[in-house]
Amino acid sequence: METTAPLIDPFARAITYLRVSVTDRCDFRCVYCMSENMTFLPKKELLTLEELDRMCSTFVNLGVRKLRITGGEPLVRKGIMTFFNSMTRHLDAGRLDELTLTTNGSQLGRFAKDLYAAGMRRVNVSLDTLDEQKFARVTRWGRLGQVLDGIEAAQAAGLRVKINAVALKGFNEDELFTIQSWCAERDMNLTFIEVMPMGDLGNEDRIGQYWDLKDLRARLTENFTLTDLSERSGGPARYVRLEETGQKIGFITPLTHNFCESCNRVRLTCTGELYMCLGQEDMADLRAPLRASPDDALLEDAIRKAITLKPKGHDFDYSRQEVGGQMPRHMSHTGG
Ligand code: SAM
Ligand code: SF4
Repeated sequence: METTAPLIDPFARAITYLRVSVTDRCDFRCVYCMSENMTFLPKKELLTLEELDRMCSTFVNLGVRKLRITGGEPLVRKGIMTFFNSMTRHLDAGRLDELTLTTNGSQLGRFAKDLYAAGMRRVNVSLDTLDEQKFARVTRWGRLGQVLDGIEAAQAAGLRVKINAVALKGFNEDELFTIQSWCAERDMNLTFIEVMPMGDLGNEDRIGQYWDLKDLRARLTENFTLTDLSERSGGPARYVRLEETGQKIGFITPLTHNFCESCNRVRLTCTGELYMCLGQEDMADLRAPLRASPDDALLEDAIRKAITLKPKGHDFDYSRQEVGGQMPRHMSHTGG
């Protein structure tokens, strides 16, 4: 495949990072992400594994260097290893720098070795609490032990694990140092995510409250010396190092931090919609051009056209009286 001109948006940002949601389904029902009774998409709406391959390969051809697979829970998608194994060819050819995954960890025990063999080196595991009962409450259907076993299997297979924890006031506030030291003991970095106004937030299911990461950060300084790191991932994460442990702690603050100027990413849903921004409704349907022709020219055109629609920034805002910029989409749809 010939590499063509890279994807540059109207604000001169190069698009080199694609997040792909491979399913809207999940074996958990986290309260901030899904409702208890979710209606999932009929199978025919989903991109097949072959179509996912074509989509991702086309993006790689257009200069995408990093693929992050997410969902829903990506590891519950039937046959997903076929897709990962097919992406290995781009890693081997040096056309892709990284193939990675965001997972709830429940299936890592089954898949860790195969993921490593497919060329994956790092995974992000979402884990908000180390308390079994609280874990059951926040995930509704999850079992903590299974996730902890999954994390162990991932590390044993050679995968670096980063933990992502959603910061929830009154829920995991009291576990800040427990989670931090648990990660330090296992040589895992840790990122806190500010809860975003998506899905069912705001209804009676809401566990805890918005916990400002400025406050969380201030709490960390009670026990540690924090050094700001200049490292940027092109996304909303900012990092510090805890001098006493050497551990890297990330803060994802899409609501309070303006990160849009360096945004390098777009998001593909499991039905082939391309979202140019997590906080905006602009999207382009890529499934129709993909299915319209076995040739990738139509799809490439559609991708290029979509990138010209990438907005300058998002509209999330908790500072207004009501939750501003609230998105009707579930996080499991755009994949976080
Ligand atoms: N199932 C996988 C997992 O949980 O890691 C991948 C998909 S999940 C939608 C991706 C990330 O989004 C998770 O880290 C999850 O905690 C986060 N997330 C879901 N809903 C959120 C919300 N309302 N605010 C902030 N983060 C959210
Ligand atoms: Fe599933 Fe991840 Fe959403 Fe939890 S956050 S319900 S694990 S998709």
